[in-house]
Amino acid sequence: MSINESTCSNCGGKSIVKGDIGLRTSRDLELIMVVRKDHGVEKKVPLQPKVCAKCGFVDLFVSEAENLKILHSDKPINADSRQRPILEYDF
Ligand SMILES: [Zn+2]
Repeated sequence: MSINESTCSNCGGKSIVKGDIGLRTSRDLELIMVVRKDHGVEKKVPLQPKVCAKCGFVDLFVSEAENLKILHSDKPINADSRQRPILEYDF
């Protein structure tokens, strides 16, 4: 998948804010977490934001999509989380 760095996917304007843009919560410096809810597994994956200066649309993409795959070593954060066997389509 190729990402068009300079075009807004909402308005089509070539007005993407240049430079490195980060997102963080207001309370701490934790990364935005990507949660695979079926497994209760949270993955620390950097989200790369793309901000349009024209319409304000924010696009997010995962810079290391490979890391979203669930591995056998991944443990659910919440032990009560419903157990479901890892299926083919999770990979
Ligand atoms: Zn836009």
